[in-house]
Amino acid sequence: MIRQEFSRIEPKRKANVDHRKKQFAVPAYKELSYPTRLNFYTVPPTADITLEQFEQWAIDRLRVLAELEACSIRNKTPAETAAHMKPILDKYLPLASSTSSSSAIQAERQKDHYSHFILRLAFASTEDLRRRFSRVETQLFRLRFQGDDARERQAFVESLNLDWETVGEDEKRLYAAELVAAGGGYPKRLDEESWFKVDWERVPELVESRRVFLKAGKAYVPGREQLSMVVAEFTNRLDKALEMTSRALPRLDEDDRLTPILAHLSQNFTTPDASYNSSSSSLPGADISARNIDALSSSFPLCMQNLHRSLRRDAHLKHFGRLQYGLFLKGIGLSLEESLVFWRTSFNKITDDVFNKEYRYNVRHSYGDVGGDSNRRGNGYTPFSCQKILTERPPGPGDSHGCPYRHFSVDNLTNLLQAVGVKDHKVLQGVKEDKEKQKFHLACNRVFEYAHQQEIKKVRDNGTWGAAQLETIVHPNEYFKRSYLLKNLDKNPAGTETGGRDSDVKMEG
Ligand code: SF4
Repeated sequence: MIRQEFSRIEPKRKANVDHRKKQFAVPAYKELSYPTRLNFYTVPPTADITLEQFEQWAIDRLRVLAELEACSIRNKTPAETAAHMKPILDKYLPLASSTSSSSAIQAERQKDHYSHFILRLAFASTEDLRRRFSRVETQLFRLRFQGDDARERQAFVESLNLDWETVGEDEKRLYAAELVAAGGGYPKRLDEESWFKVDWERVPELVESRRVFLKAGKAYVPGREQLSMVVAEFTNRLDKALEMTSRALPRLDEDDRLTPILAHLSQNFTTPDASYNSSSSSLPGADISARNIDALSSSFPLCMQNLHRSLRRDAHLKHFGRLQYGLFLKGIGLSLEESLVFWRTSFNKITDDVFNKEYRYNVRHSYGDVGGDSNRRGNGYTPFSCQKILTERPPGPGDSHGCPYRHFSVDNLTNLLQAVGVKDHKVLQGVKEDKEKQKFHLACNRVFEYAHQQEIKKVRDNGTWGAAQLETIVHPNEYFKRSYLLKNLDKNPAGTETGGRDSDVKMEG
């Protein structure tokens, strides 16, 4: 689907694909029309687009998905999410209704269709990415479905041929009492609602919560439950399609025009808050030095406190622990020189010689002082976001990296929290429940609010910090910065702008 003349790769570098693999799928060109605004993305695109369109459309969709994910991390309500997303969707992925007078309807729908499939390729490679992509795409679909014009929505549902059988008037009357009882007394009059029949296995949540009448293996689903059924069907189909795509991916490896673009897209799927802008991380007047890390560590989030405690206990950290903790310290403003002092004095059971041979280079490398390639921007690596810590490289035995809210058992997590001073039974219980619901960010923010309750009250009451400065934390460095500022309000009475976030999705190269 990429137009050859726009390829930026010289011909000799183009894929030299084994002819047997080329035969895997022969794309037959098919002009697609888009009669409905919504799309289940069942037919892959085959028409030509340029490489530039390929990349730009995917980046635009990625911006939308990243914002949607951020809304869910912050626990925004559906109404707040819809209001927040409207200008972003209008800008990056507009999708006018069929009744609108816009002349760009087909182009908008084509961009929506193609960008979905491009990201499907980018996010099919690992289970974590597939799950994440499916979750945000489902959110996007739900948002659009709810905002669709009622008549268009109905036309779209009918176009899906979902194998739902409408319940006729005679049958409605026959089972009137059961239908109304299953609806908890609603509707009062039968003509206020329509029902359709599906195999009961297709609506397990409705069956489980006894919201439907069952008869002869069929569930009688009221029209008002249509949204959850259509959305469930969307997710179901997308999950299956992503599995299929992941199996076909190795064949794509040989196309060196697309592989780097796709790799970039998935690597840079950061939520707007997930990329920490270290240029705005400085804390004027703060003593960020090797000798002060012990004192500063009381402002670290639990993941970093755990690493710090392991380091002090063992005088050592394994590779990923050093990486996660070292980049975090760099992010809080520890200079390269101080970082070398910190690691050298912390690894106090080894000789200078061993330190210089085995560890010194890695510290310098993470600061961009040595090494090229992935380090080519000269600043070294950036601190890990919660998203990265939560989803990549789970710790194995003997490792201390990762996020305790996700990677510790409930008992170990409770012990660690108590060891760092969280004794309140209600907070510990809340954390346990957050963990069970896999809301790790919420658990972390709950502990933050508990640990800074007096200071937060103060800045709220005197109005020095606005809602934006107290939004859900989704980056360990933001946690530290906010904690440090709150604990040093006397040095910083106006509550310096925390602003460690960058509002753009980064497509770093
Ligand atoms: Fe660290 Fe983020 Fe986990 Fe909090 S949620 S402990 S900041 S990784």
